[in-house]
Amino acid sequence: MGKITGFLEYPRTEDPYRSADMRVRDYEELHTPQGRDARLKQAARCMNCGVPFCQSEYGCPLSNLIPEWNELLYRGREKEALERLLETAPFPEFTGRVCPALCEKACNLADEGVTNRDNELYLIETGFAKGWIKPRIPSYRSGRRVAVVGSGPSGLACADLLNRLGHKVTVIEKADRPGGLLMYGIPNMKLPKQVVQRRVKLMEAEGITFLLSTEADVRALYEYDAAVLCGGARKPRSLNVGNIGAEGVCFAVDYLTAATKAVLSGTESPASAGGKHVVVVGGGDTGNDCVGTAIRQGCASVVQLEMMPAPPLHRTAGNPWPEWPRTLRTDYGQLEAMDKQGQDPRVYETTVQQIEVNAENAIRSLTAVHLSKDPEGRLVPVPGSESRMPCELLLIAAGFVGCEDSTLTRFSLTADRRGRLLPADGTHHLGGKLFSAGDMRTGQSLVVRALADGRAAAKEIDVWLKK
Ligand SMILES: Cc1cc2nc3c(=O)[nH]c(=O)nc-3n(C[C@H](O)[C@H](O)[C@H](O)COP(=O)(O)OP(=O)(O)OC[C@H]3O[C@@H](n4cnc5c(N)ncnc54)[C@H](O)[C@@H]3O)c2cc1C
Ligand code: SF4
Repeated sequence: MGKITGFLEYPRTEDPYRSADMRVRDYEELHTPQGRDARLKQAARCMNCGVPFCQSEYGCPLSNLIPEWNELLYRGREKEALERLLETAPFPEFTGRVCPALCEKACNLADEGVTNRDNELYLIETGFAKGWIKPRIPSYRSGRRVAVVGSGPSGLACADLLNRLGHKVTVIEKADRPGGLLMYGIPNMKLPKQVVQRRVKLMEAEGITFLLSTEADVRALYEYDAAVLCGGARKPRSLNVGNIGAEGVCFAVDYLTAATKAVLSGTESPASAGGKHVVVVGGGDTGNDCVGTAIRQGCASVVQLEMMPAPPLHRTAGNPWPEWPRTLRTDYGQLEAMDKQGQDPRVYETTVQQIEVNAENAIRSLTAVHLSKDPEGRLVPVPGSESRMPCELLLIAAGFVGCEDSTLTRFSLTADRRGRLLPADGTHHLGGKLFSAGDMRTGQSLVVRALADGRAAAKEIDVWLKK
C-alpha cells in the first residue's frame, strides 16, 4: 500500500471544469488539468484494498490494475505506472476523457472514490508529452489477414490487439474520418478530435491499414482470413408523431456529426442551432451533448424533454454501493444551459405530441404533453396538460434500437430482437470467418465496454486463426 493515511489526509479533488461562461465560447476541452502534485496526492488516496471493487464486475470493464498504477503514481514513478496501465487499457487518452468511471463509484471510498479517470489521463498525456509513447511494431508476423469493419472504439481496440498478436489488420470505415462515435458523436469539447487522430496515426505507424470512405460488404470474407464487424448500434429510435420528416427535425448523431465537421473545417454547420429555439428529446448523455453543442452554436433557447420521472437525488435501498448509482446527474451541457438561461433545460415526464410546420414544411413549434403512469405502469398522456413551445430545431436523442440495416444487408445477416449481432453461445463468433464486437454485438453501451469487447473479440479471433 502507498500512503496509509492518504485517504484521510487528502480530500477527493477532480480536474475542475473551466467556467461555464468561458467554455461555451469555444469547443476546447471542458476541464483544466490540475498538475503533478495534485495527481500524486490523489493517487495516494488509493487504499490498495484487499478486495479492490474498482477492478470487480462493478468496476472497470477493462479490469485495469488500478491499485497498482495508483501506488506507482503516488511514488512519482509515472513511467512504470503508465506501463502498468497500458497492460490492460488500450487507449487511456479516450477513457481518461469520456469514461463515466464505473471504477470510482465502485471504490471502497464510495462517494469520495479515488479520481482514477483523471489519474489515468495524467499518465497517458505525460507519456505523450515526454515521448514515452512510441509505435510498438510487432516483431512477429503470422501471415494471416484480418478485416476490422468499423473504426469506433471496439474496432480500434480489436485492431490494436490483433496487430500486436502479429496479424495483418485492415480497418475498413465508411466515414471520411476514423474513430466512429469518438470522432462523429462525442463532441470536440469532451474529446478533442486531434486526440483521436494522434492515436490513429500511431496505429498506422504500427502497421495497421485504414481504408476510409469505404463501406465493407461480404467480399471482405473472400479477401481476408477473418472479418470482425464493429459497426456500432447506430439505428436511432424515432418519435411516433406526424411531420417527423419536416425540415429542422434531426437525429442527434446526424446533428452532432455535422457540428464536429464544421468545427474541424472552421465553417458553420448546415444544421446549426444558431438563433433558433431548440428542443432536445431525450434526457440522457446524447441529449446533453446536443444541449452543450446548441449552446455553443448560439441557440436562442434550449429545452430538454425526458419521458421518465427525474431520478432520485440519492441512492435508493434497491441500488446500493458498489452498483452504479442511478441518481440525478447534471452534466456539462445542462450546467451551461442553466448558466445561460437561468433555469434547468430539463423537463421530466414530458414528450412531443405534435410537430407544427409552416408552408415550407419547416418546423416552427411543437405541442408537448405531460405523461403519467396508468394502472398497468405504462406512460400515458395526461389529458389537458398539452402546451405549445416554439421550436425551429428538434433534435431526437431518444436512444438507439440496434445496428444499421445497411450492414446487415451487405453481409446477409439478421439481427436478434434487440438489433444485435450476438451469437447464441455468447461468444464473438458469428460463424465461418465472421465475428462481431462492440455495440453491434451488445447494443449501445459505453466506450470502455466497447474497448473491452473489441479486445475480447481479438483474443477469440487469434485462437480461431491458430486452429
Ligand atoms: C452522442 C454520443 C455521445 C456518447 N458519449 C459517450 C461518453 O461520453 N462516454 C462513453 O463511454 N460512451 C459514450 N457514448 C457511447 C459510445 O460512444 C459507444 O458505446 C461506442 O462508441 C461504441 O463503439 P463501437 O466501436 O461499437 O461503435 P461506433 O463508435 O458506433 O463505431 C462504429 C463504426 O462502424 C462504421 N461502420 C458501420 N457499418 C460499416 C460498414 N458496413 N463498413 C464500414 N464501416 C462501417 C461506422 O461508420 C462507425 O464509424 C456516446 C454515444 C453517443 C451517440
Ligand atoms: S477505463 Fe473507466 S472504469 Fe476503467 S479505470 Fe479508467 S475511468 Fe475507471
